[in-house]
Amino acid sequence: MKNLTHPIIPDMPEWSGDPQTFRTLAAEITSDGFALNEWRVGEHTGTHLGSPSHFLKGEATIDQFPQDLFCCTAAILRFEHLPYPLPLNYTVSIEDILKDEELHGLLSEYQCIILDTGWTERWQAPESVFETDKNGILLHPGFSEAAVMWLIGERGIRIIGTDAPGIDPGKSQDFIAGKAVANAGCWHLENVRLNSQLPRRHFQLSISPLPLVGGHGSPCVVYAIE
Ligand SMILES: [Zn+2]
Repeated sequence: MKNLTHPIIPDMPEWSGDPQTFRTLAAEITSDGFALNEWRVGEHTGTHLGSPSHFLKGEATIDQFPQDLFCCTAAILRFEHLPYPLPLNYTVSIEDILKDEELHGLLSEYQCIILDTGWTERWQAPESVFETDKNGILLHPGFSEAAVMWLIGERGIRIIGTDAPGIDPGKSQDFIAGKAVANAGCWHLENVRLNSQLPRRHFQLSISPLPLVGGHGSPCVVYAIE
């Protein structure tokens, strides 16, 4: 088993405008007889699962995550024909995914795919996770709208994952790929802590979001099981 979850710590990297992670002591052993913290954590903090309701009103919330996806079949997309880490703001196309399939096999038997952009390493220097250019544009790679629609429509993928902060490349202003995933009733898994020893295909993924009723996402624990 490999833990693919970034630890949750106070003041960890966040999307601009999202709640900062906060921990304070609510009870102490010396005065209260037990220790307890109060945490404040955004729904899309760290390694997290996002529900269709994150982008579309009235769609499934995180407590409606289907039972058959808590343990699902998964594959990694890491591209031999491109530099690694992927170029800043690179947009993954259908053609890129077809090249990956030529080398590693069809994706149609998997419920979840995870894009390896090389972003996992950036958590060693947390300020680089949400790095921007001089105009304030985020730099992480992501998928094109066509690529996620193809993965869902042609390969039956139900969870689109990435080790980067977003499904869309950082330069996206309208989250068009993320919205396409939501519109298809599918889920996104972001900031996955990838590991170069993971196989490219044929492993199980355990995904454990909190059952937050009406939530639009949840930090989750993710394990790869070979
Ligand atoms: Zn998210």
